[in-house]
Amino acid sequence: MRVCVIGTGYVGLVTGVCLAHIGHNVICVDNNEEKVKLMKSGQSPIYEPGLSKLMHESADVGRLEFTVDLATGVAHGEVLFIAVGTPALPTGESDTRYVEAVARSIGTNLYQGYKVIVNKSTVPIGSGDWVRMIVMDGLNERPNNGKVEFDVVSNPEFLREGSAVYDTFNPERIVLGSNSNKAIAMMQELYSPLVERKFANNTALNPVPVVVTDLNSAEMIKYAANAFLATKISFINEVANICDRVGADITQVAKGIGLDSRIGNKFLQAGIGWGGSCFPKDILALIHTATDYGYETELLNAAVAVNKHQRLIVIEKLQQELKILKGKTIGLLGLTFKPNTDDMRDAPSLVIIEQLNRLGAKVKAYDPIVSQSGLSHGLSGVIIEANPEMLADSCDALVLVTGWQEFLKLDFERMASLMVSPVIIDGRNFLNRSQLEFFGFRYLGIGR
Ligand code: NAD
Repeated sequence: MRVCVIGTGYVGLVTGVCLAHIGHNVICVDNNEEKVKLMKSGQSPIYEPGLSKLMHESADVGRLEFTVDLATGVAHGEVLFIAVGTPALPTGESDTRYVEAVARSIGTNLYQGYKVIVNKSTVPIGSGDWVRMIVMDGLNERPNNGKVEFDVVSNPEFLREGSAVYDTFNPERIVLGSNSNKAIAMMQELYSPLVERKFANNTALNPVPVVVTDLNSAEMIKYAANAFLATKISFINEVANICDRVGADITQVAKGIGLDSRIGNKFLQAGIGWGGSCFPKDILALIHTATDYGYETELLNAAVAVNKHQRLIVIEKLQQELKILKGKTIGLLGLTFKPNTDDMRDAPSLVIIEQLNRLGAKVKAYDPIVSQSGLSHGLSGVIIEANPEMLADSCDALVLVTGWQEFLKLDFERMASLMVSPVIIDGRNFLNRSQLEFFGFRYLGIGR
């Protein structure tokens, strides 16, 4: 099928590349000229394992192109994905101005034939009908629009940054919301190779469940999923904080409750809280929507409040160990909001840096991606070190912020010898405690 993906960020680029890989003919559109130039030259503007290789393969066989020209993409695609960002406004409401701009431009560039317009961006409930209206407005802005037919589908995305390519080929479900059977049938055809697991790592599994709903329910599924996961993490973090006080070990507690199939063992790792480009903004957007409709979300408000406090727990632990932080040097292991991504949006590290700066500490950091990129990533108040030894040098304490696999293999013995005092706060309960203690570290985890 002919596909156009508008917006080539973490979702759009992965979607476009994976759809090209399974045989579709894809044009990716972005209004960021630098990005498009980079992608045309064969480089991925984001770090995502496996993505660059697939990008090259499909571009080489002519199934994947990049352009800044939306009209070309719209003319090409039978299916048009909207995958632009929907960041949070200061009110918590979702900022839908990029979706609006794209929907309007689709309208002004639609000519004869039938198109399926797919909302892959996470958009507030009710956006499907709103997008239809904006596309119609765009259509009506130009004379003689002829016979144009289109339907809108909500197809929320559940990929995880850091394993986005894997997740796209191995989805746990595909959600399609629309009032049009014709549009749903086209989407089912588009995804049939994924549903039949032709590109999955375990083809013996049953077909991927496709959940067909109305527009509003599909939009709600995305928000409900993220709100649930964020709440689950806040729950285990709250239990960890109680463990810290009563002398229980949250890692053992999580194992003990996670074996109950009604609970499950995922998202039960206590730490410094959730961040990133999705959970924080999506939970706030859901709270905002509920408020608009006269409902107060007490549980979701509490999940947000617990998370806000959780990010500061490492500061409390540093104060407990070092007392005065003014004039101390703190080294952060990891900056990105989670491993295997270069995404810094709403990363807990940002709050930790800000608080340490406010308390007069000097902050240094080493992150496998940020340190190697040589880019500032918009960071201030932190010295980016080139390697873990340089980070440890003259530090009063280290804080593990992101659970990068390579941190498990660091030369902690040497790092301890370079520090003023070998203290480590393991913000993700990720490191090997007994090994660190053997090397002379004073180790503090979260809830253990
Ligand atoms: P992103 O910020 O990484 O990418 C958005 C892209 O859209 C950028 O490249 C930007 O240049 C482009 N863009 C903006 N306006 C445009 C326009 N008018 N025309 C063409 N291109 C335009 O965003 P993202 O992280 O990929 O997220 C996209 C959407 O998917 C959001 O709604 C997000 O909530 C949702 N989502 C994200 C993830 C994730 O892990 N990042 C997961 C699931 C859902």
